Amino acid sequence: MADGSWYDADIDRVIISEEQIREKTEELAKQVAVDYADADGGILLVCVLKGAVMFMADFARALGRQGPSSEMEFMAVSSYGSGTASSGVVRILKDLDRDITGRHVVIVEDIVDSGLTLSWLMKYLQSRQPASVEVVALFRKPEAIKVPVPTKYVGFDIPSEFVVGYGLDFAERYREVPYVGVLRPEVYARS
Ligand code: 5GP
Repeated sequence: MADGSWYDADIDRVIISEEQIREKTEELAKQVAVDYADADGGILLVCVLKGAVMFMADFARALGRQGPSSEMEFMAVSSYGSGTASSGVVRILKDLDRDITGRHVVIVEDIVDSGLTLSWLMKYLQSRQPASVEVVALFRKPEAIKVPVPTKYVGFDIPSEFVVGYGLDFAERYREVPYVGVLRPEVYARS
């Protein structure tokens, strides 16, 4: 493609730009770096696949430049069918590769919507005796306020709209879009 990117025509509007994401990631990393300056053993970052993968990569590098050392872990979870999704019961598709006892865990999340996944995940990780568990989420939707998930670090509050980009997909596509935006209605009609 000579001009522009394949996805340009599919995006209705940009909600958060690349530049805003970059600045906010630095800011969040700075806060975490200050709070964990004396954390024994550094920080264990836990990324929830796949949506948080871009944020994990950028956040970890920003943290590395200004904070304590960190290590990365990846988990994959899926909600049990739509009927029981509201119960917040999730199935682990990929578990942690190591013991987190005594570690300072920071969950790296893309977006907190209902907060059900995160609330389950926090309980799950806390049951494994870490020294601490906190959450850094790049985006949060207003619905999240209804579920009491202590999300200590939040990048942006965004409207309750379905967004794609920067790791967030629609049917596994648009994850590579460098900003976060809303798709044109025709895109849904085509699929
Ligand atoms: P929750 O359990 O908080 O309702 O669900 C959070 C997960 O749903 C996020 O980690 C993300 O994968 C997905 N999600 C929530 N809102 C959106 C959105 O607007 N776009 C996309 N692509 N995924 C979303």
